[in-house]
Amino acid sequence: MFLYYNLTMLTQITPHIYISDFDSNNDRPRLGYIKGDTFNIMIDAGNSPAHFKSFINDCHLLNLKEPDYILLTHWHWDHIFGLSGSSIPAICSNLTQNKLIEMSHWKWDDASMKHRLVTGEDIEFCDLNIRIEYANPLDIRIRKGDILFDNQLTMDLGNITCVIKRINNDHANDSVVIFVPEEKVLFLGDIISPDYHHGEPHYTKQNFDNLSRELFTFDFEYAIHGHTEVFTRESLKQFFHEPEAHIKRL
Ligand SMILES: [Zn+2]
Repeated sequence: MFLYYNLTMLTQITPHIYISDFDSNNDRPRLGYIKGDTFNIMIDAGNSPAHFKSFINDCHLLNLKEPDYILLTHWHWDHIFGLSGSSIPAICSNLTQNKLIEMSHWKWDDASMKHRLVTGEDIEFCDLNIRIEYANPLDIRIRKGDILFDNQLTMDLGNITCVIKRINNDHANDSVVIFVPEEKVLFLGDIISPDYHHGEPHYTKQNFDNLSRELFTFDFEYAIHGHTEVFTRESLKQFFHEPEAHIKRL
């Protein structure tokens, strides 16, 4: 008898890059793993220590070493709450760090969470998913970044390069993309998603056009978003032609 086990949720998309699945049930984003000859980095920390741990377990199943660094794409909870489940050094922009510092003062009792929905500091969608992911939101801890950069950083992982760049966009002011030229892969974080934090989800023309221009200066074949199927260069071009079709989905 043959028993099939789905051993890992990680997919190898190029010789040095692996990605996890995303899960819309609890807003777990897709995470990435970039393997260099000298060291390895993880893209985003996950939405909880449990999410982080499941990613590390998946790495073990593929005999991938634990990452040496965790690189954060932006401050949103689903990308950073996992950090507190790890002591691996975290890299982020100063803008991201400012938001992490701000959030480290947030309280997680029910009244404080509800109050943030009134002030607009947080939104219903996040509140709902935080309550799904965390049996007890009082368990939430915010860990800050350890290595900071301004708008751009280049890392040599050992025959694999990461070009990290902040680009003006609507989703989150601190959002960065990570381009790996040797593999022609571009990690987007959620940068092409709309602004959810100021009224109805929306884009502004200036940011949207600027983002499109900037992204296509990178010579990528695959673009990895936190909450969608993998984009090819062509399907991302298509996306920028019809953003309205995606605005609810992203
Ligand atoms: Zn986001």
